[in-house]
Amino acid sequence: MQLIWLRSDLRLRDNTALAAAAAQGPCVAVYLTSPQQWRAHDDAPCKIDFWLRNLASLRAALEKLNIPLLIRDAPHWQQAPHVLLTLCRELNISAVHVNEEYGFNETRRDAEVAQALKSQGLGFHSYLDQLLFKPGSVLTKTGNYFQVFSQFRKVCYSHLHFSLPSLVATPGRQAPTGLASDPVPGQIDGFATPSEALRDLWPAGETEARRRLDTFVDQHIDAYQSERDFPARPGTSQLSAYLAAGVVSPRQCLHAALQANQGEFESGCVGTVTWVNELLWREFYKHILVGYPRVSRHRAFRPETEALAWRKAPAELEAWKQARTGLPIIDAAMRQLLEAGWMHNRLRMVVAMFLTKNLLVDWREGERFFMQHLIDGDLAANNGGWQWSASTGTDSAPWFRIFNPLSQSEKFDREGLFIKRWLPELNDLEKQQVHSPNTQGGLFGALDYPAPIVDLGQSRARALAAFRNLPARQDVAAHETGD
Ligand code: FAD
Repeated sequence: MQLIWLRSDLRLRDNTALAAAAAQGPCVAVYLTSPQQWRAHDDAPCKIDFWLRNLASLRAALEKLNIPLLIRDAPHWQQAPHVLLTLCRELNISAVHVNEEYGFNETRRDAEVAQALKSQGLGFHSYLDQLLFKPGSVLTKTGNYFQVFSQFRKVCYSHLHFSLPSLVATPGRQAPTGLASDPVPGQIDGFATPSEALRDLWPAGETEARRRLDTFVDQHIDAYQSERDFPARPGTSQLSAYLAAGVVSPRQCLHAALQANQGEFESGCVGTVTWVNELLWREFYKHILVGYPRVSRHRAFRPETEALAWRKAPAELEAWKQARTGLPIIDAAMRQLLEAGWMHNRLRMVVAMFLTKNLLVDWREGERFFMQHLIDGDLAANNGGWQWSASTGTDSAPWFRIFNPLSQSEKFDREGLFIKRWLPELNDLEKQQVHSPNTQGGLFGALDYPAPIVDLGQSRARALAAFRNLPARQDVAAHETGD
């Protein structure tokens, strides 16, 4: 009997480890609940709920193939080897199959499980599945991990020209095993159930993920490049939660996108090219996680930025978290995060820059708060996005180019539609006032809306001074092109 250990790959179709396990004989699936570990990782309650809902949907799909889904508790990943070994003995399992996960703790867990199984003569097989390219297969000429996205992408393109990662077959129905599936818990202690409104935004299941992918490719991908920065419009795929939980695979996304562009990823429809580019950013940050493990341990990618004089400003940090900074675009974005468990990409950059530059608060505070609330929370992408915004990471925003939240608001939410959707208290304002209500002669006093907590000009100057005082930066790009 084979065991497929499901983690962030909650789907039946195009699932490499599941297909491999099923091909080798009758198989059983297992999922470990690990609340202590999830808490240590700051996994958001809405994300845990999303995992459980998808697991319930996958359980039903697996049952149709006579593959039972068992649920075991391993509160901390340290317990994973013991829990899995016990199960293997009970069921007379000969090998465990997994899709690779990246990150320091994930890698250590898998190494410990593999060792425990091998010491008992059992097999442990892991497969590339979460990414298009295996970390370590896209390197500079001197064999290092890339630090600059455009150069990473160039090598990805050449791999894609050579061969496109192909989809894996869905397993067929197997003979009944006589084992019954376990019920999937509806909730895990310590992780509050999100509101029905939030749940409704993110229906579970592969069918929903596929529907989103098809709708995006049919209706939105052509205009993706011009629409993707406007948070009030449906310009992006909203697939991130499904990709993060593995309800859809990057291969499925790539194939769907290429079908809409005659198989081209580098030319043709500019929307497709731009979207594939985003899928490659996803790859890039996961490769960074593997190549530079310090980023998975709360360290800045650029060590010299560890010397930055971040401010301890608990009241301002709290105002940012609670969406009451007095800057409507920031507060509307933070409300979206709190209520929808998701935030538009443009606004993730805007609120992250505001926290790390205008408030000069350590990026790790924002990274953590995002993780605690995002339904798509992903260590690599979240850390990459935060370090980009804070100018402490790979290929980051240059420290002297600080987004002005007001200009961003006027440019990307000109009519104030996004702001009004999330801050209904500003509904009656004209579009000229909505971006900055406090300039209207004290108007904010009459509204139930706070005055700005910070002066944008002065705080910008403060951030520039803090970055200017840092020791010299290494010129990373120059290193790489010299390879
Ligand atoms: P689309 O625009 O349709 O893009 C398609 C897919 O590409 C996304 O679903 C996502 O998987 C991937 N992608 C797109 N942009 C990026 C990017 N910049 N980096 C990595 N992958 C990308 N994304 C997460 O999935 N999880 C996170 O925890 C996360 N945290 C972020 C934090 C900050 C501060 C910033 C600036 C960005 C973060 N992102 C994160 C990236 C990006 O904001 C989201 O992936 C995107 O908004 C998801 O919406 P979508 O599915 O409609 O994306």
